[in-house]
Amino acid sequence: MEFAWSDDEQKYRAALRDYVAENIMPGWNHDDRELHDPRLKPVVKEFCRKFGESGWLTPHWPREYGGLDSSAWERTVVGEEMWAAGEPRGPQYMNVNWIAPAIMLAGTPEQKKRFLTPISEGGVVWCQGFSEPDAGSDLAALKTKAVRDGDQYIVSGQKIWTSYAHDAEYCFLLVRTNSEVEFHKGISILLAPMNLPGIVVRNIPTPFVDHAIHEVFFDEVRVPADCLLGEENEGWGIIRHTLTEERVGIARYAYQEQALMEAIDDCAIIGRDVSDPGLQEAIGYGFAFFEAARSMMYVATQERIDDPTGLRPMASVWRAIGPGLAEMLLRELLMEVMGPEGLVDNSMADRETELGTVGPIAAGALEVQLNIVARYCLKLPKDS
Ligand SMILES: Cc1cc2nc3c(=O)[nH]c(=O)nc-3n(C[C@H](O)[C@H](O)[C@H](O)COP(=O)(O)OP(=O)(O)OC[C@H]3O[C@@H](n4cnc5c(N)ncnc54)[C@H](O)[C@@H]3O)c2cc1C
Repeated sequence: MEFAWSDDEQKYRAALRDYVAENIMPGWNHDDRELHDPRLKPVVKEFCRKFGESGWLTPHWPREYGGLDSSAWERTVVGEEMWAAGEPRGPQYMNVNWIAPAIMLAGTPEQKKRFLTPISEGGVVWCQGFSEPDAGSDLAALKTKAVRDGDQYIVSGQKIWTSYAHDAEYCFLLVRTNSEVEFHKGISILLAPMNLPGIVVRNIPTPFVDHAIHEVFFDEVRVPADCLLGEENEGWGIIRHTLTEERVGIARYAYQEQALMEAIDDCAIIGRDVSDPGLQEAIGYGFAFFEAARSMMYVATQERIDDPTGLRPMASVWRAIGPGLAEMLLRELLMEVMGPEGLVDNSMADRETELGTVGPIAAGALEVQLNIVARYCLKLPKDS
């Protein structure tokens, strides 16, 4: 078996890397993808517009939707190069990787025309309205209610931890349309414009950047019924697919390797000796771990190729290792490599200590991923 990238894939990566180096905002930083500064939204849109024109934004989409039908491995290369560069697509990695595919899967022809083109042109920001104060890991317990009234749904309730909500034009919104049936059966998806009267977005203060996460309140918001994705009450099947795509979608190891490299380079500037054998061992362990995370992502990618609509538990194995355990390791390693300098405000170690805490929580808590691994990979009983 040949594990190395083919010549064509290596050329593809080199061309992409050159493109990003030429087009990324000077000084772009991994945290900037949260759009914490109002000046960043136009930067992201402009990057994505040009990226789309150059064929890099949606190469993995089918040709009928304007993509290039590129392989799953070329898609992986794009994800890795984006994360190594600090994700200059900003929130639009979500649009192209799992929001648009959900619309392709279940959207009407009108919805495809209305929503897919702006996404492929890089001109729109979406957010995901999934989690609620009492529905995070137990997502199916969500309570935000939508009642059909003629050609509209009246939506009332609250979402929480919503990334990008302050800048989003649309929300991929999960609502309860039937409370009389078992949890999973009464959920629907609305592709809701964020400028409708009755929607209020509030920043949740964090120790790191502003506008990383938000609360979103819906007070009798009238959402046009043609925003319903798929059948009413049948949203859960689409959501499960979307969550699995989200879990495989982020090549964090590419960022983790880059961050560790940068910290080692910084040691020369701060006069810290990295030749200490103990430190070398820790650094070697870190790179080996990130490579292991990369391998698990490739296993999850192969699983997606083999069984695109299946349960795909390897996505949870990858998710637990990559964003979960590797993120925690990176924080410890950066502190060890940088020593006391790591405590300096806004140093790489300081930023990662703050931001990296969310890796094992966002997109599904580590423990919940481990439960899926226990149940579906190890075949352990549900309650033990
Ligand atoms: C930075 C960040 C960005 C986010 N962005 C978004 C977003 O854009 N849109 C969105 O909808 N949500 C978003 N989230 C929310 C995220 O999906 C939830 O935080 C996550 O699913 C966990 O839910 P919770 O916070 O309600 O925690 P809970 O579900 O209450 O869990 C609390 C703790 O209990 C543990 N736990 C819960 N259930 C189990 C179980 N069955 N077995 C073992 N342990 C369990 C968990 O592991 C966790 O440690 C974001 C979160 C973060 C941190």
